[in-house]
Amino acid sequence: MAKIGEVIESAAAIAKGMGITFKEMLQPTITEAYPDGPAELAERYRGAHVLQRDENGLEKCVACFLCAAACPANCIYIEAAENTDAVRFSGGERYAKVYNIDYNRCIFCGYCVEACPTDAITHGHGFELASYSTASLIYTKEQMLVPLAESGQPASQHNPAPAGAAGKVPTY
Ligand code: SF4
Ligand code: SF4
Repeated sequence: MAKIGEVIESAAAIAKGMGITFKEMLQPTITEAYPDGPAELAERYRGAHVLQRDENGLEKCVACFLCAAACPANCIYIEAAENTDAVRFSGGERYAKVYNIDYNRCIFCGYCVEACPTDAITHGHGFELASYSTASLIYTKEQMLVPLAESGQPASQHNPAPAGAAGKVPTY
């Protein structure tokens, strides 16, 4: 009796699997034309990081170093500085004067994003990071920070791209 049960169970599993196969066969074929057309990425795709601004256009990063501490690849480099009444970059006491991520070492684990208390760092959808130059894989704050629109509000979409020699190369 046990053997008959196993056979029935196996047949049911095969029928279930084939059902999914036939269902997929009837779906329209989607062909991605990348690189001639845009790649379709899942919303949660972890691409190059984006440094966010708040609704007032100020940088959300307050240079607390928690992201750097959480990073298992040790690829985040931050230099903190104090905001003053005359010159303010972030809503907190401090801001990141320098914020670099070394994409030679980043494994896109997302720990930095999870560690950030102000949601200052997120993953964007930028994925075309390949380069012949390791120096150009060190992304600076200027590359990752959401630019301000003409209205003074943060631009809605920002996908950091390599800036070649524009990046300042830090010494770790
Ligand atoms: S995604 Fe992971 S490896 Fe990359 S910077 Fe963040 S914590 Fe570090
Ligand atoms: S990105 Fe977030 S966790 Fe990292 S230093 Fe800035 S505020 Fe702190």
